[in-house]
Amino acid sequence: MLDRRRQVPRTDAVLADSRLAAVTERLGRDLVKSAVVDAQQRVRDGAIEPEALVDEALAALPDEACSLRPVLNATGVLLHTNLGRAPLSEAAREAIQLASGTTDVELDLATGARGRRGRGAVAALARLVPDAGDVHIVNNGAAALVLAATALAAGREILIARGEMVEIGDGFRLPDLIMSTGARLREVGTTNRVTLADYAEAVGPDTGFVLKVHPSNFVVTGFTASVPERELAGLAVPVVADIGSGLLRPHPLLPDEPDAATSLRDGAALVTASGDKLLGGPQAGLLLGRADLVRTLRRHPLARALRVDKLTLAAFEATLVGPRTPTDGALYADVGRLGARASALADALRGKGIDASTVDSEAAVGGGGAPGVRLASAAVSLPSSYAETLRTGHPAVLGRIERERCLLDLRALPPDQDTVVLAAVLDAAGRS
Ligand SMILES: *Cc1c(COP(=O)(O)O)cnc(C)c1O
Repeated sequence: MLDRRRQVPRTDAVLADSRLAAVTERLGRDLVKSAVVDAQQRVRDGAIEPEALVDEALAALPDEACSLRPVLNATGVLLHTNLGRAPLSEAAREAIQLASGTTDVELDLATGARGRRGRGAVAALARLVPDAGDVHIVNNGAAALVLAATALAAGREILIARGEMVEIGDGFRLPDLIMSTGARLREVGTTNRVTLADYAEAVGPDTGFVLKVHPSNFVVTGFTASVPERELAGLAVPVVADIGSGLLRPHPLLPDEPDAATSLRDGAALVTASGDKLLGGPQAGLLLGRADLVRTLRRHPLARALRVDKLTLAAFEATLVGPRTPTDGALYADVGRLGARASALADALRGKGIDASTVDSEAAVGGGGAPGVRLASAAVSLPSSYAETLRTGHPAVLGRIERERCLLDLRALPPDQDTVVLAAVLDAAGRS
């Protein structure tokens, strides 16, 4: 025992090893040191020889200083909140890289004077939605709503249909969020039905605005009635429309999903939306509408606390002006092509002796968009034990379990990821 202890090389000496010194440049001293300390313990325990200490520490170190890992989304849910919703386009990724150093996010290089923060992103959004008098960008959809409620209705009333008091996920309820701003919510109508008269009777001197929330993650069917924005617009107070998913224009494949241009044309004074749902960009909250209202929001002290980061502004602008987003690519993916991709993958896997087949599948938009819309898709079907092995691999692959099989749905995966999926399944087969 004593002998072993004497054999353990000293930490400083190990850290000076050229290979570990190189990794320290990349990962920082703390991570490397803790891997060395763990390896020293393994020498002490007799699990490895002292000569293997550096190799052991190197093998235990992560590739990056960040613990987030890439995950291939084979769930068939296009916008998966647990996976960070919309994957960014190549253009948006490059924009993030470019903005990650010092950049002119709030500086006019021509004059040397301070410039409007993120003016490129703001201008791109305004150009795409000409019906908006002005636009503003905050951290997420919830922040957009909080800013509107605080600046336009704190201490006053917001009218909302009872059927639109929604929970957006992970226990967050819009009513609680809005009331946290000091505005009072006044419900009108019943769970399934609300009429223009319900709203009209409730409007009073204390009304800040009427809030119309898109039921983005559920559908109500049967004996139902709601009031479209174009009718609400006749009331004496502004209408704020939380459209959720952030489509700027009508989407041909999602006719029931609201969009900013139509809402504004129908008379909404202000539209709030998310940037990382169907818009296909980074997490952001969009505010579009009447110039006087947007200006009030932008100048409110709370706006500073919701200020959006330069990386987001860069990615958002590139999403708007750049090529089709991966999210849109997934929506438009041809089901015949998806089937051919699944067959090619299953064939290659069977060739390696793996129990793989091709199955028809149904994908969904998810992430608070287009509830009830099913997208025909195709999947590779594997034994259910693959679910865990793939999830814990590098890169991780997340499928879904259906009828005791692990399905890898291809709709949310760009075609250029198929070779990565193939390699991941082969690696998982080797590990199980
Ligand atoms: C998703 C959603 C929100 C919240 O937006 P985040 O960007 O997640 O903060 C609010 N309202 C509706 C209708 C939504 O669908």
